Amino acid sequence: MPVIRRLGATEIIALEDGAGPFFAPRATAFPSATPEQWAAADAFDPAAVTEDGRWWLNFRAFAVRLPDGRVILIDAGIGPAGSPAATWAPVPGVLPGELEKAGIAPADIDTVVLTHLHTDHVGWAVVEGKPFFPSARYVIGKGDVDAVASLNPRLDDLLLRPLRENGQLWAIDGDKRLAGPVRVVATPGHTPGHQSVLVRDGEDLVAVTGDLLVHAIQLLYPGMGYSHEINEDVARDSRVRLLNELRDMDATLATPHLGEPFVAVSALGAA
Ligand SMILES: [Zn+2]
Repeated sequence: MPVIRRLGATEIIALEDGAGPFFAPRATAFPSATPEQWAAADAFDPAAVTEDGRWWLNFRAFAVRLPDGRVILIDAGIGPAGSPAATWAPVPGVLPGELEKAGIAPADIDTVVLTHLHTDHVGWAVVEGKPFFPSARYVIGKGDVDAVASLNPRLDDLLLRPLRENGQLWAIDGDKRLAGPVRVVATPGHTPGHQSVLVRDGEDLVAVTGDLLVHAIQLLYPGMGYSHEINEDVARDSRVRLLNELRDMDATLATPHLGEPFVAVSALGAA
């Protein structure tokens, strides 16, 4: 069953779409990491490393079920066989079955937030030319919509065009409140329009961070760049800024790629 974190009457549901090894040696992803930093990251997140030292990634989406029954999906996983992620990710993903286990049908989803336009985050958004979530508006950072030709030109045709034609594309520029407790915040750098989602109930906060950080090593050492960030400096600024805010709030992180879906920021110790 999907893991659920409750914030008052709001539920945040972790949905596993798949898991598999990174396509290259992990040192190439974090070229500045030292052996001590790797050891600390592996102790913090042992599920993210294989016995032979490879980076093992989960590919996860999250659903937010609001007290009024509306459902917001954050990211859309690696997708079915033949999806744009098929060249490197362990497709087919199993997101539709996970949604079903959580009692959510595709038509129940009111809003889909895509944190960014990388293939492992948009896999189920549009399937065979049709939006998979027929009633949803799709909230995408304008910076990514504008940059799609350089991010991945195939996604213009396979993802954005069908959403536009069905009137389901909602490109946003900057921060936006989606529903009472749910807010999208711009966290650029990994991609130009990368965005995260904050869910708040009173003093409780869960942050769904997309690829603001992709590995525990960037959680323990937020200054560490990842070689697939479009702009490492901007990504670092976004990561340090949001993680500092979250630490002050004693928040919980909900990440796509770490071994565990939810991580308390307090688990990190002092800054
Ligand atoms: Zn990713």
